[in-house]
Amino acid sequence: MKLNLIGGAWTEGPRSYRNINPSDTRDVVGDYTVAGREQALDAVAAAHAAFPAWSLSTPQQRFDALDAAGSEILARKAELGDLLAREEGKTLPEAVGEVVRAGNIFKFFAGEALRTGGEVVPSVRPGVGVEVTREPLGVIGIITPWNFPIAIPAWKIAPALAYGNCVVFKPAELVPGSAWALADILSRAGFPPGVFNLVMGRGSDVGAVLLEDERIAGISFTGSVATGKRVAAAAVSRGAKVQLEMGGKNPFVVLDDADLGVAVGAAINSGFFSTGQRCTASSRIIVTEGIHDRFVAAMVERMAALKIGDARAAGTDIGPVVDDSQLAQDLEYIAIGQAEGARLVAGGVALGTNADGAPGHYLTPALFTETTASMRINREEIFGPVASVLRAKNYDEALAFANDTAFGLSAGIATTSLKYATHFKRHAQAGMVMVNLPTAGVDYHVPFGGRKGSSYGPREQGRYAAEFYTTVKTAYTLA
Ligand code: ADP
Repeated sequence: MKLNLIGGAWTEGPRSYRNINPSDTRDVVGDYTVAGREQALDAVAAAHAAFPAWSLSTPQQRFDALDAAGSEILARKAELGDLLAREEGKTLPEAVGEVVRAGNIFKFFAGEALRTGGEVVPSVRPGVGVEVTREPLGVIGIITPWNFPIAIPAWKIAPALAYGNCVVFKPAELVPGSAWALADILSRAGFPPGVFNLVMGRGSDVGAVLLEDERIAGISFTGSVATGKRVAAAAVSRGAKVQLEMGGKNPFVVLDDADLGVAVGAAINSGFFSTGQRCTASSRIIVTEGIHDRFVAAMVERMAALKIGDARAAGTDIGPVVDDSQLAQDLEYIAIGQAEGARLVAGGVALGTNADGAPGHYLTPALFTETTASMRINREEIFGPVASVLRAKNYDEALAFANDTAFGLSAGIATTSLKYATHFKRHAQAGMVMVNLPTAGVDYHVPFGGRKGSSYGPREQGRYAAEFYTTVKTAYTLA
């Protein structure tokens, strides 16, 4: 059984969790220990004790440890990608790509540890010097979801450690395998004991400790809106810094002048790749009248050619849904869409098994047409391979539909018009805008995040990560 890492020691918890492969539910990926509140408190204490020394560690020490972790992740990309695909269900190329991203993120933040500097500013007073510097925050509680089992932990853990913080990491219950593998790598990368701690466990107890404990200075969370609101309330009530990434209902606009191949390719990717289980996925495709019917026909044709199957089988385009409760939610939304009067023109069928007869949570990608902006399938995050087409009269109406949402993570447009592309980049109410590209699929060295109900607090990734993981100090000296 794989254990938790607390204060440098591998530690067993009171319970265990059996990690099941969603592509073949007979396949056990492994058994993982599950911590209770006490172990979470031990991990917080270990991180708190390690912080004074780590906060004063040299940039070289931090660079070396982060760089070593990045190198090992990259060197083991095939094996770690296989594990990720096996426990989460995204396809092998997607899973290997996610592992590479995680490795690159550690390399990027290794460099950032060296590049952290400040400003020397002339004072408005004679003889006084002013320095503005960044210092680590303290112990960071990191709570992550199941859909990116290694990349999301990486893009929180790497900057936290790079800027001199200590970490207590609570991964999602469904994907302990990638989290444990990452912890194993970090345990050998050169971080002193207690600087990084892994506590696998439930949100209701391990997660709750991270929200409540006064020794946790900052909480970085990615997950559902409902949990995010709880995290924010708990953090704000005790003055902890908080950063949230939550849901999306990302629009993808297709204009009459779009290149049809580009539009369909991006919409298929946005809607259905990674089984639609990305917060940057687009489940809302807004199509102007002149191209609507051609676009829908091309989508249906492309969807019929998608291969649904075992995440690790060669040629699979779309793996299974992550588990039975997510599958039930997807099917419920498909039923809701039909009840609301939308037309299901493709997919939406739970298969039960793959082509080899292995039992898994397979769902054929679903496409609705004849939808309206007020339908629940166009307003609520489904988080599965379910997309709907919303017909718009023209660009202005398409833009209005695109922004008519409680979320604001990513927004895409397919157009060959510089005028509309430029206007959309400025007027889409989202943290990330894509022109002739899928709404999902982002670089690792630039900021990631949204607005409205999607995100709260400073941006993640790239140099902007320093905003959350450091606190600013202004020092005055009379010469
Ligand atoms: P998802 O739908 O992706 O599972 P959740 O918001 O339920 O989204 O879970 C995201 C992360 O938040 C997981 O690691 C989960 O264990 C954790 N979590 C769930 N409930 C709580 C809670 N009450 N307090 C802290 N963390 C929680």
